Amino acid sequence: MFSQLTSKISNLYHSLTGKYTFSEDVLTPLLQDLKESLLESDVNYQVVQKILENLQQKLLHKKALKNLSLQETFLKVLHEEFSTLLTSKIFDIQSYPEIITVVGLNGSGKTTFLGKLGLFLKTKKKSLYYIPADNQRPAAKEQLIIHANSLGAEYFDSNLSDSIEIIIKKGLEEAHRLKKDIILIDTAGRLEIDQNLMKELSQIQPLIKNHPVFLVADAFLGQQACSVVKKFEEILPLTGIVLSKMDADTKAGAALSMKSVTNLPIQFLSTGEKLIDLEVFHADRIIDRMLDKGDLKTLFEKIETVSKKEDSADFLKKIENKSFNFYDFMNQMKSLEKLGSFSSLLKFLPGFQGLKNQVDISSIEQEIQGFKVMIDSMTQQERLSESLLKNPSRIERIARGSGKKTADVLGFYKKFLDTKNMLHQFAPGLKTGNLSPEVQKKMQDSLNKKPKNTQSPYGKKFF
Ligand code: GDP
Repeated sequence: MFSQLTSKISNLYHSLTGKYTFSEDVLTPLLQDLKESLLESDVNYQVVQKILENLQQKLLHKKALKNLSLQETFLKVLHEEFSTLLTSKIFDIQSYPEIITVVGLNGSGKTTFLGKLGLFLKTKKKSLYYIPADNQRPAAKEQLIIHANSLGAEYFDSNLSDSIEIIIKKGLEEAHRLKKDIILIDTAGRLEIDQNLMKELSQIQPLIKNHPVFLVADAFLGQQACSVVKKFEEILPLTGIVLSKMDADTKAGAALSMKSVTNLPIQFLSTGEKLIDLEVFHADRIIDRMLDKGDLKTLFEKIETVSKKEDSADFLKKIENKSFNFYDFMNQMKSLEKLGSFSSLLKFLPGFQGLKNQVDISSIEQEIQGFKVMIDSMTQQERLSESLLKNPSRIERIARGSGKKTADVLGFYKKFLDTKNMLHQFAPGLKTGNLSPEVQKKMQDSLNKKPKNTQSPYGKKFF
């Protein structure tokens, strides 16, 4: 999402190794590099200037803060700066507003966002009703109906030759008759802002007055997204911004200037084409990710959307008392797969950007596929009780069944035991999403660890 910006900041941070004061020699090139990184990520020029002035004022000739290294001091102060830029009160979506409308240019991701929002709200057990009022792009109605059907929600069968105003009016009447909890309205966009669009949208204002309206803006527009927001605001009071396509990294830094330039908060980030790819915008978590400190809270929330809440709680409990087995491991892998590639999840771990160049992610992905094949070749008892694998003949049988070498099966067994121990140590932090710096370091080390030699399959070191 912010990987370009994050890896640049991570390089800056590492360049402070062995330094003890923010002397002019240290700070000036650091701020110059930061300036370039922020501008390359499409942060607004004035905003960049302000960040640099503040950092200069707070850091020049200063030593590290108490109990922190110079690197940590830099990150702390940068965190404060980003926090001022990104933190604002967002609309309380958990209050379940009766009507939610989305506006934006064509192709910005409005219809997709409404599907995602439906999933987000549906998990909270509310009855949804969709009103497809995009009469400019006929496929939008079909697309919205597909989302509605996949969520088991009803929709208004709009007549696309009606005006947006008429469609919404009729749709709202029908939704009220059916006593729906939440009504989600898609509207027409244009490829660019024009008079017709503005006129049509101004006409729907009385129908949706006092209800939240979100503007979906394609993150790829970078700073231009700010002018789109401002134009829409002129005719329809907006509640917040949804930045879509944040999975494509380019210009993602523009998010940092959104609030200063438009005076509106970012409410959601849309991060992919699947319905689960939606995140509520939590400034602190996003800043942690920008500064390569990971974001375990969001990771666990994502996991909870694809596995039952009880299952996640159960798994955490098993981590805590070291009782999880191959069977649980396989179930977790299957849940995680629904969220996307393994590498997309690693991004939520602390220090990932710093490690990215040292860890071969595609080989980790391949390794995990291999683990699954090996688990498939185990008996039910072996999956439930890994100590049975102490028996060499079982290892050999699993190797034959999975088409692997015995050393591979042993390597996996060893890794499984290591992971179990490692997760046990992380358990308290995993529960709260807050890992102490020492635990973060351990987690990074374990990611970075080179596999040990497993050529001597029955050597003592394995068991
Ligand atoms: P609309 O015209 O504003 O309703 O735009 P759509 O919802 O139809 O989205 C336009 C295209 O962008 C579609 O191909 C979507 O699959 C894609 N899209 C929407 N949101 C995202 C996102 O967050 N990430 C990515 N990669 N694609 C997205």
